[in-house]
Amino acid sequence: MPDQLVILGSKGGPALRPGGPWPSSSLLQIGGRTVVVDCGLGVTRGLVDAGISLKWLDLIFITHLHSDHVLELGPLLHTAWTAGLATPVGVFGPPGIGHYWRRFCQAMEFDIEIRIVDEGRPDIRELVSIVEFGEGQVVEQRGLKVSALRVDHPPVTDCFALRFEYAGRSVVFSADTAFYPPLADFARGGDILVHEAMLEQGIERLVARTGNGARLKEHLLASHSFAEEAGRIASDADVTRLVLNHLIPADDPEIGEAEWIAAVRKTWAGDLTIARDGLVVELSSAKAAQGGETA
Ligand SMILES: [Zn+2]
Ligand SMILES: [Zn+2]
Repeated sequence: MPDQLVILGSKGGPALRPGGPWPSSSLLQIGGRTVVVDCGLGVTRGLVDAGISLKWLDLIFITHLHSDHVLELGPLLHTAWTAGLATPVGVFGPPGIGHYWRRFCQAMEFDIEIRIVDEGRPDIRELVSIVEFGEGQVVEQRGLKVSALRVDHPPVTDCFALRFEYAGRSVVFSADTAFYPPLADFARGGDILVHEAMLEQGIERLVARTGNGARLKEHLLASHSFAEEAGRIASDADVTRLVLNHLIPADDPEIGEAEWIAAVRKTWAGDLTIARDGLVVELSSAKAAQGGETA
């Protein structure tokens, strides 16, 4: 497997609509490791569609506990287990991720216990190790170094951008954040910056559709970045490629790739990819994204 980034789910927020994209999850294959970043609904299907055997699951990172980033963590691990997972999986997440996992295993206790006895499977609760992390170095393992930066995503305080480094290559995920200038230092010189983005002209129509207008708009403006702001971070960080992800809105027929590109080009002149579900970016040639919308 070449080193690559696959955007499995590209939309911001947990709601699903017919024909639309799926919530946040990504696959990063780097240095022979299979790394999943965020586990929004659809992550398991996305991995299988990307040709990944669930038995290869190795490392999982969760940026924060909003459901569009964590809802399918338990189901992913459980499904990998029933698919034959027999090697340890490390799950790294913010404080509270251990609580989620213990309660998931309790909710699934009947099935877990019966499969251990009936099918002779190893105990999934012993295969999965949970590490709750804060800002700073998260893990350094077999040449892969992962570090975290607390970003600005009120009212969530434990929300972390993540930087993955291996053999001189680096991929940075912004997580969910309002415009946050320290992210530029954190992402400095990265091969790929995956940054969340929203588009101003789509917000009004989005809040009208979802029903709780004023409060939703308030949250979006306080807690997320406009595409122009993502471009500003990419420029200040001098990364090679910017991937706009966690798109809000993601399924507005009046907003296509051209609108996203027009917004981000005000602040970013470098290589650019607008995410969609299943998009592959080869890490060995971050300058030439494949299979996706590039500009
Ligand atoms: Zn989100
Ligand atoms: Zn969030």
